[in-house]
Amino acid sequence: MMKIHMVDTIGQYQQIQSEIDAAVLDVVRSGAYINGPAVKRFQAHLATFMDVPHVIPCANGTDALQVAFMALGLEPGDEVITPSFTYIATVEVLALLRLKPVFVEVDPETFNMDPASIEAKITDRTRAILPVHLYGQAADMPAIMSIAETYGLYVVEDTAQAIGAMSSLADGTPARAGTVGHIGTTSFYPSKNLGAFGDGGAIFTRDADLAERLWSICNHGSHTRYYHDRVGVNSRLDAVQAAILDVKLQRLDAYNEARREAARTYDRLFAGVEGVRTPAWKDDGSHVFHQYTLRLAAGRETRDHLQAQLGAEGIPSMIYYPVPIHLQQGYTDYGYQSGDLPLTENLTAEVISLPMHTELDETQQVYIVDHVKRILRTFSTITP
Ligand SMILES: *Cc1c(COP(=O)(O)O)cnc(C)c1O
Repeated sequence: MMKIHMVDTIGQYQQIQSEIDAAVLDVVRSGAYINGPAVKRFQAHLATFMDVPHVIPCANGTDALQVAFMALGLEPGDEVITPSFTYIATVEVLALLRLKPVFVEVDPETFNMDPASIEAKITDRTRAILPVHLYGQAADMPAIMSIAETYGLYVVEDTAQAIGAMSSLADGTPARAGTVGHIGTTSFYPSKNLGAFGDGGAIFTRDADLAERLWSICNHGSHTRYYHDRVGVNSRLDAVQAAILDVKLQRLDAYNEARREAARTYDRLFAGVEGVRTPAWKDDGSHVFHQYTLRLAAGRETRDHLQAQLGAEGIPSMIYYPVPIHLQQGYTDYGYQSGDLPLTENLTAEVISLPMHTELDETQQVYIVDHVKRILRTFSTITP
């Protein structure tokens, strides 16, 4: 049996071990463990990579979202338009801040927020739009920004899964996803495209006033030590993590290209396979394939059978996400019911993500795809 990982958290390290070991040892020997030079260096390099004036490192991608919404100065009950087809963190921070998530459908082809469904959800309490660049693919930012501008809304981009993906500004200038809206957030969780060896996150903005507030909120609402202008949190990026991330950042474009190459291979191997839809994407840098996600038109029973069978044969796969946020137990207060977002609910029954990482090779992919094809063929002959 071939050994296949869903994500490979150690493969990249093995390639650049001496550089990372040296960077970590440097921090250990420096004694500067919090907000030291390693953090400043990574922050500056990340600002250059993202081509954005302000980068605020923080403790994780969930904090990044929470701090972003704290900085906007919204009132309890203010509404934020966001997809329900996302990771819980996107919506959790809204709930914590007593903001009201208003869910919109996603485009089943791209899995991203459908701009056409936004306007109908705008009320006099709407303050912000929160798109998620799901699975690594940039959402339609020009369309979202144009709606936001018409209605005077903030846009916060959840870029946890898409660091390095390309999007564009209103005038068509290419820009990294996460730098188009008023604020962008990301995560350096180990399995993300730029993964630390622990937790980490960052916030991006082009606005100097917002940057000042974001910095202050991450540091207990303080500018001058022991003077606190506002209520903040303690959310910092570890110096050790910053040193590791700084080494990996230099290779991020190459890592993302390796993921795209793996996606092209999957696309080719799945071409013409009945009942399987490969992801819709443009090969223009706008997708960095955090996940490679298939849709099985046959639905939940077939999908779950495929996952169980793959697992039994040593091939990992994941369902991102089996339950949409609007139907989660902890989120019933918002009053949504089954059937409210049919496209989203269908996707939760159809999607399955296959192994995707920078160390995946074609032999492994042929092996995976052969298994998927055989399992689906056998299942469809035993079920009517
Ligand atoms: C991973 C992730 C987050 C949260 O990041 P953490 O660093 O784990 O807190 C937020 N949103 C999305 C879409 C994610 O995938």
